[in-house]
Amino acid sequence: MKLHQVLMAGAALAIGLAGSAALAQEKTAIGVAMPDKTVARWIDDGNNIVKQLQDKGYAPDLQYADDDIPTQVSQIENMVTKGAKVLVVAAIDGTTLSDILAQAHDKGIKVISYDRLIRDTANIDYYATFDNFQVGVIQGTSIEQSLGLKDGKGPFNIELFGGSPDDNNAFFFYNGALSVLQPYIDSGKLVVASSQTGMDKVGTLRWDAATAQSRMDNILSAFYTGKHVDAVLAPNDVIARGVISSLKGVGYGSGDLKMPVITGQDAEAPSIKSIIAGEQTSTVFKDTRDLAKVTVDMVDAMAAGKEVTVNDTKSYNNGVKVVPSYLLKPVLVTKDNYQQVLIDSGYYKADQLK
Ligand code: BGC
Repeated sequence: MKLHQVLMAGAALAIGLAGSAALAQEKTAIGVAMPDKTVARWIDDGNNIVKQLQDKGYAPDLQYADDDIPTQVSQIENMVTKGAKVLVVAAIDGTTLSDILAQAHDKGIKVISYDRLIRDTANIDYYATFDNFQVGVIQGTSIEQSLGLKDGKGPFNIELFGGSPDDNNAFFFYNGALSVLQPYIDSGKLVVASSQTGMDKVGTLRWDAATAQSRMDNILSAFYTGKHVDAVLAPNDVIARGVISSLKGVGYGSGDLKMPVITGQDAEAPSIKSIIAGEQTSTVFKDTRDLAKVTVDMVDAMAAGKEVTVNDTKSYNNGVKVVPSYLLKPVLVTKDNYQQVLIDSGYYKADQLK
């Protein structure tokens, strides 16, 4: 049976059994599995999805897994047992969900991979995300522009940080950034003093700020005696703040030790404050309201047996198949445009950034 047939059969049964009062209780259950609450965006994602699903008459079941893989697996198992018809999953480790998704598939449950691509399984239907390569391009371009590399300035010292190696997105961010930065590294205008390049060397497991901070501590003490670090590629705001703590610890941002150019991602309130204060240089805003909308539209289309709208059918191969995707546009945020992008759009109230 197709999903909409299942839904209609469920509705008909409900009316038959106990009249329309039962129908009201027979809302379609949608499981929403989020990774953690450490990165603030996931809280927004969860709230936005729940609100939009409820507005359309669905019964969302939102769960956070505290960045613990077994917890996430058992939360999804629970959703399947409780009769979810669609699962929206932002995976902690994109390779650990194959068994549970196979069970879900056998029950006719549809799966949307949310923000992060779930890998190594045929049992996902759609992928809703932002253009992750473009996120990296924006970060690389922010460094290029802030240092004046296009105008021939340099050489500058740079250090590179990557996201969690079990998160497929981390590779897209890194590759996008390096697509801008690599030519300058090759020509010697950017010098990675630590020589640490490549996701195997620069990845930050679980996107952990403390891990990034201690890696930066080590880099600064081993490679930067008598040398200034001019730029740091940080893949998200949490990591940027870990790096900034490390830099401040050895005096950057005071006296004549200028803060390097530092990128980020997610437009988290503490990082916007840091941008306003002249510490972090930029971040990348990904409007979770829009991602929730794309996702809820996918749920709705599947439930109605209609065609799901996607805008990319080639970029995201999960190791088993190319997953039809909807990619949203990420936006660069700096001191110059945060007001317009974040406050005027209603994402933040002005006093949240004070
Ligand atoms: C998301 C980022 C987030 C990171 C850490 C990535 O998959 O796309 O927005 O900062 O995970 O949670």
